[in-house]
Amino acid sequence: MYEGVEHGAAGLIDYRSDTVTLPTPAMRRAMAEAEVGDDVYSEDPTVNRLQEMAAELFGKQAALLVLSGTMGNLVCLLTHCGRGEEVILGDHTHTYLFEQGGSAAVGGIHPRPIPDGADSRWDLAVLEEAIRTDNEHFPRSKLICLENTHNQTGGRIVPPDFQAAIASIARAHQLKLHVDGARIFNASVALRLPVSDLAVEADSLTFCLTKGLACPVGSVVVGDAAFIAEARRNRKILGGGMRQAGVFAAAGIVALNEMVDRLAEDHALAKRLAEGLADIPGIAIDPAVVETNILFFDLMSQRLSPVQLAARLRERGIVVAASSSPRIRLVTHYGIDSADVERTLLAFEHILGDR
Ligand SMILES: *Cc1c(COP(=O)(O)O)cnc(C)c1O
Repeated sequence: MYEGVEHGAAGLIDYRSDTVTLPTPAMRRAMAEAEVGDDVYSEDPTVNRLQEMAAELFGKQAALLVLSGTMGNLVCLLTHCGRGEEVILGDHTHTYLFEQGGSAAVGGIHPRPIPDGADSRWDLAVLEEAIRTDNEHFPRSKLICLENTHNQTGGRIVPPDFQAAIASIARAHQLKLHVDGARIFNASVALRLPVSDLAVEADSLTFCLTKGLACPVGSVVVGDAAFIAEARRNRKILGGGMRQAGVFAAAGIVALNEMVDRLAEDHALAKRLAEGLADIPGIAIDPAVVETNILFFDLMSQRLSPVQLAARLRERGIVVAASSSPRIRLVTHYGIDSADVERTLLAFEHILGDR
């Protein structure tokens, strides 16, 4: 099992993202001892083992290690769509908002955003309407992209029945389905369902090793063998062909073996944090909608701006990302334990409460 919390270098309680997690002692040992080879020749045994494990876990034929979630999504979009073809995706998804429009910039793929509901779901009638008919004025619809868990709606889970409904619409229109499963293990642990159940409808899926699973580098794409063979070509053209990548794939193997079940602790701490914050004046949050390790609250205080709140928390060793927006995101992870959460709630009370 994992060996307890690895705090950030400065001992800070850092809620900005689960990407700040540090590798576990077991990962560092595995990395030091990893058997390696040239992965462009498919000769790195550790990479091959990680890819086989991932394919098996997700119930797919094959898998491909990539450098980041952004690279994984881009590789998949490039593999599914050609220039002038269209991907339908939520307007608050990571791929639409935070990947530099890479599929358009690099692949000439046209994005068609549709509204993400507050619970991360779409209006299926809107989805159907967004699918293009055959008309020379239109790009061709090729792909639907889903994000699970859904980051910008607060780590909400896309439930399997909703995903199945989308998949059946996709099939009816000969479209492919890609799942950005950067945090699919959070959904899996929260739903108590194997990830293969959450991938069953997906033609491709990307998951991150670097978020709640605490690895230093890496994401993995899964799909059928023909898809992964093409994806491998697209990884190469993006500069993602790697040599002795077993050095970090070794951490990924440790993550899949040891770091998945503990995500339940992150979820419990996010819930506790949300419930505690709900009692603090000047904070608006509904703990009921916190399903995994991400929560958003609105700062309603007349006394403090979000940036001022962040500065006051920082004085107490607590790090949050703040902008001019009253909406602030907190993410729980392997670097935060229950004592940290209680300390955080006390800090909020001191800063915002009457005391
Ligand atoms: C983090 C994230 C990504 C991108 O992963 P990187 O490894 O940071 O490139 C993609 N999608 C979602 C939902 C994410 O949270």
